[in-house]
Amino acid sequence: MKRYKFLVVGRGIMGSAAAMHLAEVSDGVAMLGPTELMADGSGPVPKASHYDAGRVTRIADPDPFWSGVAKRSIDRYRALEDATSEKFFNEAGFMWADCDQRRADATFDMTQRAGGEVSRPDSAELASRFPYFHFESGVSVLYQRGDGGTINPRGYVSAMTKRAVQLGAEVIEGYAQNIAVRSDGVTVRLADGEEVSADRVMIATGAYAAFDQLSPVKVPLKTNKHTVVLIEVPQEVAEGELHDMPSLMSQPPGDRIGTYTLSPLRYPDGKFYLKIGIEGSRPAANDLDALNAWFRTGDDPTLNQQLIDELRKLMPSLDVSSWKWLACVTTDTPDRRPVIGLIEDGKICLQLGGNGYSAKSGDAIGELGASLMLGSEWPGPIPAAELAPDRFS
Ligand SMILES: Cc1cc2nc3c(=O)[nH]c(=O)nc-3n(C[C@H](O)[C@H](O)[C@H](O)COP(=O)(O)OP(=O)(O)OC[C@H]3O[C@@H](n4cnc5c(N)ncnc54)[C@H](O)[C@@H]3O)c2cc1C
Repeated sequence: MKRYKFLVVGRGIMGSAAAMHLAEVSDGVAMLGPTELMADGSGPVPKASHYDAGRVTRIADPDPFWSGVAKRSIDRYRALEDATSEKFFNEAGFMWADCDQRRADATFDMTQRAGGEVSRPDSAELASRFPYFHFESGVSVLYQRGDGGTINPRGYVSAMTKRAVQLGAEVIEGYAQNIAVRSDGVTVRLADGEEVSADRVMIATGAYAAFDQLSPVKVPLKTNKHTVVLIEVPQEVAEGELHDMPSLMSQPPGDRIGTYTLSPLRYPDGKFYLKIGIEGSRPAANDLDALNAWFRTGDDPTLNQQLIDELRKLMPSLDVSSWKWLACVTTDTPDRRPVIGLIEDGKICLQLGGNGYSAKSGDAIGELGASLMLGSEWPGPIPAAELAPDRFS
């Protein structure tokens, strides 16, 4: 049975980041998880919430945790791209449009406190620089010209995985079915029957942690079954009038839905798509089979139509006639912050609960879990106790 010092179970956004930070200072590091190809199909192989070409990245957030880990991760994007030759950051800028003046003010202050540059363009500037957007009067708009835009989450995971391997980490393609804590460490049994062991194990299995029984300690995780709409955009429009479109988070007045919109990106089919998704909670998957089924074939025609109707209001001149949808799942905790902490006398580290916000901040979030496993200094931006698993008990 192969033995490691550190084994990360789940090599998505948060797991691949942790493996990278562990391998920076230690040998004997491995990361376990399926490839997207292995997960693609009707079998039980776990899928992932980063199988997409675009995620919003921004510092702007009223929560000091999210603005802090975003700033730290964004500051490291270019160095990671250079070290791995994997381009994943499109610095298109970010816009926050909010009917709640107090929340917009809190977001403005927190972004500055986190070290982000943010401005409040007036209506004339908005009309001249971003003519494709329409905001109701009374909506407060914040704009980050830099340190914001989109990342390619597949590319980010690939870059962090490459960096971890450059630093000596091993990749194990497969998935865990059982984790057993022993006096001398932890044994992990894989679905193919193989067993590996390690001094310390991290569980970073994303949405699957809501059902997978790997962790001896249950943490409150709620899955959200999402669909996002991809509007097909002609290349000349994507590279023309929308070439400098920032990503947008919008909380409009009245009973309109809150959404996030990404600038047009080229998808694996070679076409450009502008994506819109809903902010907030969605119906949960009831069990593992329902989770797998949603990732595979999930559809929500009512939500898709709501998203298209909302986009028509936000971008009235955009042609929305050609579109498709994608299914995905986010994983929330009760306080909308991840669970990062040691259990089982420090032999297991939990790093769970992306809350729909972790893709952009994988690096800094992974560093938190790794610092606990290494026993090194906690990097913040908030005290460890505020992310600990027992904060809900
Ligand atoms: C529609 C949608 C839009 C989003 N938009 C944004 C955005 O704009 N900005 C942003 O920052 N975030 C966004 N997110 C959130 C972001 O994608 C997630 O927070 C992030 O992917 C969570 O990272 P993770 O590592 O916890 O999970 P994942 O990235 O899902 O990784 C978990 C990994 O664990 C593996 N795994 C599961 N079970 C096992 C097992 N038993 N053994 C081994 N491996 C296993 C899975 O296959 C997967 O590879 C969005 C999410 C969704 C669904």
